[in-house]
Amino acid sequence: MAQHYDALVIGAGFSGMYQLIRLREQGFSTRVVEKGTGVGGTWYWNRYPGARVDIESVEYSYSFDDALQQEWDWSERYAAQPEILRYAEHVADRYDLRRDISFETSVEKAVWDEESDRWTVTMLSAEGSETVTASYVIAATGCLSMPSRPHFEGMDDFEGETYWTSSYPREGVDLTDKRVAVIGTGSSGLQTITAIAPVVGELTVFQRTPSYAVPAHNGPEADRLREVRPQYPAFRELSALSPLGFQCGEDNPRVMMETDPVDVRAELDRRWAVGGLCFNSGFEDTLRDQAANDLAAEYVRDQIRAKVKDPEVAEKLCPTTYPIASKRMCVDTGYFEVYNQDNVSLVDLQETPIERFSAKGVVAGGTEYEVDVIILATGFDAMTGALNAIEFRNGEQVLSEKWEHGPRTYLGLMSVGFPNLLTVTGPQSPSVLSNMMTSIEYHVDWITRLLQAQRAEGLTRIEPRPEAEDNWVNTTNDLADLTLMPQASSWYMGANIPGKQRVFMPFIGGVGAYKQIGDGIATVGYHGFDRA
Ligand code: FAD
Ligand code: NAP
Repeated sequence: MAQHYDALVIGAGFSGMYQLIRLREQGFSTRVVEKGTGVGGTWYWNRYPGARVDIESVEYSYSFDDALQQEWDWSERYAAQPEILRYAEHVADRYDLRRDISFETSVEKAVWDEESDRWTVTMLSAEGSETVTASYVIAATGCLSMPSRPHFEGMDDFEGETYWTSSYPREGVDLTDKRVAVIGTGSSGLQTITAIAPVVGELTVFQRTPSYAVPAHNGPEADRLREVRPQYPAFRELSALSPLGFQCGEDNPRVMMETDPVDVRAELDRRWAVGGLCFNSGFEDTLRDQAANDLAAEYVRDQIRAKVKDPEVAEKLCPTTYPIASKRMCVDTGYFEVYNQDNVSLVDLQETPIERFSAKGVVAGGTEYEVDVIILATGFDAMTGALNAIEFRNGEQVLSEKWEHGPRTYLGLMSVGFPNLLTVTGPQSPSVLSNMMTSIEYHVDWITRLLQAQRAEGLTRIEPRPEAEDNWVNTTNDLADLTLMPQASSWYMGANIPGKQRVFMPFIGGVGAYKQIGDGIATVGYHGFDRA
């Protein structure tokens, strides 16, 4: 007989860990299954040089236990990957999580059984295949956990070392004095480039599309912690109700196009000086009015021009082909200044595309760039990649096939045809448009409350109604269409993956508004769901 669990949780990142804590508290038998050898998810896999958060550490951390937030000291305003991974490991130790987590195990398939209201889940590990059953499957598989690894002709011919930022070796790589190529200039690329530029011999950056980046103004976190700690619970409540899941002082944002240009400039200057992702929160029309967006974008381009000494290089680093903030902005710690170093050069792939890899390096625009190491920072099959990699099946219906033309969910939590399957920060929830920790905690709490309600009412099945899903999908699309977001070829749109349907995947209505909707739906007995 297969082992049965109340809940099977896929993934031991911050979502899966917190889900385990909550379900255990409520007495649900729970097993977590994780591909990696340890906890931490994103922060377990992405160990590239310079990896760090783009949300301040006091916000990008769990809020569910005041004792935890009181005892943990963040060293920096924007913590780096080793510190975040230590934090994840601390949480695993503190709540004794590992005893319910199967590491180095991958969930391959889950099949719904209408008779028993259970999922039969097949997973693979070095020991072979194992099948278990679960009343509920909770996919905590991550929005950015399925790397996108484009193939370049001749990749196997390259005689040097090749690394992907999304699976960078845990022991690190000695790049001292080496000739290094970095391909990709999103957040991962920017952080890598900034971190390695001082140690490598030569650095060649292959850029297809430049990124908008705001300075982090990173530094010690001690003062901020002293300020926040005494009022942490109230502070977290404000974040949970904010548009982005962290606080940007945007209680009363102005309309840029109705504001005196001198005041606009002063506000952008003020936000630039503070640093971080709150840069865009001063005006409510930045993301919906092209003229406002152009002003903010030009402001950032001027900052780039001021930082980079060579005007030609500066122009190449200036993003012009998509609205600012229509891709998640990068938060940098001296990225643009790197191009003032003699050992750093930029190859603009718009002018000279990569033709192939050779034995000695990368060939672009007819030039062979000889390098010892190639680091690829080419991103992720975001939001749906990890979910579609699992065969979720109900009879003839498979989730990845249902989602072929884009994800269809109710609240980003469930999809019609797949009862008792819940997704933490699933597509059509705020997820990647927010401080993910806030969104993760909200979804996990919502799911836990649902499972408690099911048990209390003696119910064993829940599934969204088709009309609720249709309405939610339409709402998500309509909201996105009110903004400039769909103009960008972004991973939010699935545009970075060849053949993937272009559809704006996250819910852009804001974290606080989403919470109010989610709470309301739960409070009235799960409106829009069929329960039995
Ligand atoms: P993940 O951390 O992605 O964990 C999912 C886990 O599921 C992984 O460990 C994976 O191995 C496992 N898994 C997936 N499929 C299977 C399967 N079939 N079987 C078994 N295991 C499986 N967000 C922010 O808000 N702020 C930031 O500063 C920030 N920085 C980021 C930096 C990087 C480099 C990246 C890639 C993302 C960043 N994010 C950030 C987003 C980040 O993914 C979330 O903040 C958060 O860590 C997600 O946690 P999670 O548990 O939901 O998913
Ligand atoms: P990304 O933003 O998708 O960037 C991928 C980069 O690789 C882009 O510059 C892309 O160019 C380039 N690229 C992809 N395929 C290519 C090809 N075949 N040839 C040449 N260039 C290619 O991925 P990411 O940098 O990993 O970031 C993903 C998300 O993870 C971020 O948006 C953020 O949410 C999160 N993240 C956060 C942080 C942080 O600061 N805390 C750090 C890393 C990641 P194009 O743009 O032209 O496609």
